[in-house]
Amino acid sequence: HLPTTAFAQHVMHSSSPSSLKSVNVSRPSDVLESRILLPIVSEEQPIMEAVLLNPVVIICGETGSGKTTQVPQFLYEAGFGSPGSDNPGMIGITQPRRVAAMSMAARVAHELALPPSRVSYQIRYDATVSPSTSIKFMTDGVLLRELATDFLLTKYSVIIIDEAHERSMNTDILIGVLSRVLKLREEMWKSGTADVKPLRLIIMSATLRVSDFAENRTLFPTPPPVINVAARQHPVTVHFNRRTFSDYVTEAVKKTTKIHTRLPPGGILIFLTGQNEITGVCRKLEAKFGVNALERKRRQRESASNPADEHENANTDGGVRPAQADVEAEDIDLGNQQADDLAFDVDADMADDDPDALDSDEDTEEQQLDKELGLDSDDVDTPMHIVPLYSLLPSEKQMLVFKAPPPGCRLVVVSTNVAETSLTIPGIRYVVDCGRAKERRYDIANGVQSFQVSWISKASAAQRAGRAGRTGPGHCYRLYSSALYEHHFDQFSQPEILRTPIEGVVLQMKSMHIDAVVNFPFPTPPDRSTLYKAEKVLGHLGALEAASSVTKGLTATGDSSVDGHITELGRLMSLFPLSPRFSRMLVSGQQQGCLPYIISIVSALSVGDPFLHDEGLAADENGADIDGPELKEAERSRRKAFFTTQHTHSALGNFTSDVFRILSVVGAYEFAGGGHKFCTEHFVRPKAMEEIHKLRAQISNIVQSNFPSADAGFVPKLMPPNELQLKVLRQLLTAGFVDQVAVRKDRVEQTSSTGVKYTTSKGVAYKAMGVSDDVFIHPSSVLANAPPPEYVVFSELIRTNRVWIKGVTIINPAWLSSLASRSLCTFSKPSKNASGDLMVVPRFGSDGWELPAVKAENATI
Ligand code: ADP
Ligand code: MG
Repeated sequence: HLPTTAFAQHVMHSSSPSSLKSVNVSRPSDVLESRILLPIVSEEQPIMEAVLLNPVVIICGETGSGKTTQVPQFLYEAGFGSPGSDNPGMIGITQPRRVAAMSMAARVAHELALPPSRVSYQIRYDATVSPSTSIKFMTDGVLLRELATDFLLTKYSVIIIDEAHERSMNTDILIGVLSRVLKLREEMWKSGTADVKPLRLIIMSATLRVSDFAENRTLFPTPPPVINVAARQHPVTVHFNRRTFSDYVTEAVKKTTKIHTRLPPGGILIFLTGQNEITGVCRKLEAKFGVNALERKRRQRESASNPADEHENANTDGGVRPAQADVEAEDIDLGNQQADDLAFDVDADMADDDPDALDSDEDTEEQQLDKELGLDSDDVDTPMHIVPLYSLLPSEKQMLVFKAPPPGCRLVVVSTNVAETSLTIPGIRYVVDCGRAKERRYDIANGVQSFQVSWISKASAAQRAGRAGRTGPGHCYRLYSSALYEHHFDQFSQPEILRTPIEGVVLQMKSMHIDAVVNFPFPTPPDRSTLYKAEKVLGHLGALEAASSVTKGLTATGDSSVDGHITELGRLMSLFPLSPRFSRMLVSGQQQGCLPYIISIVSALSVGDPFLHDEGLAADENGADIDGPELKEAERSRRKAFFTTQHTHSALGNFTSDVFRILSVVGAYEFAGGGHKFCTEHFVRPKAMEEIHKLRAQISNIVQSNFPSADAGFVPKLMPPNELQLKVLRQLLTAGFVDQVAVRKDRVEQTSSTGVKYTTSKGVAYKAMGVSDDVFIHPSSVLANAPPPEYVVFSELIRTNRVWIKGVTIINPAWLSSLASRSLCTFSKPSKNASGDLMVVPRFGSDGWELPAVKAENATI
């Protein structure tokens, strides 16, 4: 690959490739030995030559080949990151996970015999970075945020994007952005306008599927060289379960028990999905095979065979022991039933060291056999050295996985998929793979993030299996069937950006001044029309300016003029990992002490309607005549009971919003101290209430970490809001649902501004922005039985025989003009009418409904 001209020039100026090393390092002797064995070390020369001659280099290599620990060292030895050298800027390396950023920084510091202030890390809440930092490991989110303030990344001479194969959204966006930054830095250097050298980019990946980067000409017009590092991998035999069990946690314990009791020495690596599962499994294994557990069992056996000892023991322990044992048994949740489950299967024909023999599925028959034969894992003498590994584990504990287990112990690591490609744990011979991973999911309807357990891809399964073949031939036990693997596993996991609601992504990019989002070189671009729509919504929410170009929308030719700049409001919104609608409400929520309420509202709207509805409502929704069957008496009395028994929240009795009904029940629930009794009495779903409770605490944390000055500590018990707060809350809801406005049809058509008198909203048609059908307030709404308001916002649109709006809030149309972008609502210049009143004409909605004039004094908040 020919270097670009500027790079060729740059190289002429700087170090010549023949003398790659310009900084001396003195590595500890143990490091020298282990380093020599890493496949990547023999590739130093070609890698460094490629890096010096090209702005972008892609490095592919099996996990454990030494990419993460060695490439930064190659660069460091060549002078990168050292003051006074040709490339004094820092060496930056991004990681998708915090654990990896921290432990890799520590490892490289150790290998180079440099202090943490020289080889540092930075994660969201913690950093060891100093002015003398040469090598900086960070999470990809940290670098994204740095780009928002220093787009040229002037502090860096080279950026390494690690684990690019994972295709996390941050990584994808980083690669796109950096492709631009490279160009800018090169141009600046050529024109000599600033004292900054060209930036270099290295993309590192564990698998060979790098075509999305390497062959993407929008991303990199000149094809970057791809360096493949030869794998040094021993064969791994893969064993599928015959059946797939849903309780994979118990399965994992069973399989590990079998491996431990039957198979020769060698570390076991168990892949689970999260912290709770991991700590649970660790406790179970510890209770069964931990050093203490085995020691206790040994003593019990001894005392059983020697009653005199028992007597002695009882004396010395002063009777404390039984109590302790009880506590422990409870703590580890290991009743007899589970103990039975843990017992291993028996097959007389099985050779003890035949790994294939573990293939058989356990079932009750086998367990019964175990019991009959009186077999028990108590016979095992080898203790397990059990180490958990997950992202929130304290860093000193993270390091334990790299330590050799105590002599005579078997290493057992119980990990999330951080051990899949980010960390290579030495000495693993057996892998137990549950086949699942926790994945960030988004509810497309409300943009709320959740973490869900789902099947991994075939590529991930192969990576996990590969962990068993680092030191010698190994075995991988998959806790799922081969049929499931064949039919339900994707070849590769989908890039995160295709699974994410795009408004949040677009806002994030705008916060980095990437205005023409449609032209952005995404490694895998989302749909164009989705991008336009997202931009329009953000414009309505006030996160983007240049509203006029936003309203032009998508023209037939694919108008690329949509390029709204971010507003100050948008910048604040971009700090929240939430749907922009909800960030909008939160950002403005710091008025009048409304924050705790708006946090509760956002949580409740995210979880969904907690109320149980009776048949009558369901019938209405499914096509019964809207004026037909009244609400059942039962439902009426339920509601009444709910409204009046809530002494603490009775102020909300006069509902002007469905959202307040929800807020009221959240408040009442917390005052009652939660619980099923409350839920039954008040006809709400216990699960929804629990989720809302948890989400409130989480969102409070997010708000507090973004706005330390905000008084957003978690307030479990809310006092009822006062009248002013209720009004502000309705304004905040208007701000978030500013493009989901419905206006009573007679107002829009200006047919009868005074004539008709309504008693209830039933059968009253509304016009909603961007919806051609008439819409109706859903019968479950608190407003359904009240006189129909003229203007409302809604949180949900449901289509059955009619189009219903749910989560309805009464608003003052005047609010729209100040809360929304101008494309959404404008007022005419005030002019006097016949009776001398100052009047304004609201022009509302992107399709420009003109409404009857209102008194100017009413057109302000
Ligand atoms: P790659 O990035 O290609 O997957 P790494 O650079 O992460 O490879 O790992 C190279 C080697 O360094 C592995 O064998 C790994 O076990 C070892 N290693 C990494 N961190 C530590 C540590 N803290 N202590 C001991 N060995 C480590
Ligand atoms: Mg790595």
